[in-house]
Amino acid sequence: MPPFAGMQQRPRNPYSSAEIDRASHERENEERMIELASSGAARFVPIDTEKNLVKTGGNPEAVFLQGMMARAVVNQADHHIFLGYVEGTPYFAVDVTGKDVPLKELGEFVDLRQVGALLFAREGSILAYARGMTYWHRRHRYCGVCGASTTVTRGGHVRRCTNESCKTEHFPRTDPAVIMLVHHGDKCLLGRSPHFPRGMHSTLAGFVEPGESFEDAVAREVYEEVRVHVKNVTYRSSQPWPFPASVMIGFHAEAESLDYDVNKSELEAARWMSRDDLKPENLPKDGSFFMPRRDSIARRLIEEWLGHEAGPSISG
Ligand SMILES: [Zn+2]
Repeated sequence: MPPFAGMQQRPRNPYSSAEIDRASHERENEERMIELASSGAARFVPIDTEKNLVKTGGNPEAVFLQGMMARAVVNQADHHIFLGYVEGTPYFAVDVTGKDVPLKELGEFVDLRQVGALLFAREGSILAYARGMTYWHRRHRYCGVCGASTTVTRGGHVRRCTNESCKTEHFPRTDPAVIMLVHHGDKCLLGRSPHFPRGMHSTLAGFVEPGESFEDAVAREVYEEVRVHVKNVTYRSSQPWPFPASVMIGFHAEAESLDYDVNKSELEAARWMSRDDLKPENLPKDGSFFMPRRDSIARRLIEEWLGHEAGPSISG
């Protein structure tokens, strides 16, 4: 049983892996890893570059490989990664990038973000986890300390340097990013990054730097982007975001005043929006202003501030 299964919690954000039992204690047992991977029960999640295999046409469904097909693919791949158990079934990720594997008729390799909101929550979590792990492996073939090649160990959760005088162990990395809804009285501040789709406005966000607490990062990022000082920074929820390697830590933060000044090197625009402005019937119909998609923590932070507690999240 996953360690969080019995935990009382508010609805989880999409891609949360609470239903996956990662069984991290089993990774060190190499015989067990081999036994699980070669058992007929095992399911394999194929990844090609950063794309997941999904059956499209109608409601998208994740494609998991098993049996003969799984064997054929695993034999071609450099390694596979133990993800854990879902209801007792072992799952592995397998990177097929550059391999000649006959998977085209089973589905299409797509960016998970295109279909994530339409998948069952648990499938989305497995695919996101598999994608994050294979992305890390592809970028850590060589030791960052001495430059020698690294080898895969502990079920694919460690890469160890092959240089006997180094032997540094490298672990999958996740870069924390803070994401915050800045509010003042009945207004919240939504901004536009130049990378957003046209018309989309969202919460502010940025990476945590070495030596910063999350709260420090919230205050710094808000000041950098809109020259606003914040107080009462309160944690709301978090969301795995392995696109390619982050976890988003979500906050509400109260602005000291309504004065702001957009830093154009960071943001294209920002504006205060009242609760009334954000009512669907009051939003412009010409596509010039819309909120982030419902599977994002950004949307949840906005919905919660609007008073819609369980808004965009998926409960399992
Ligand atoms: Zn090394």
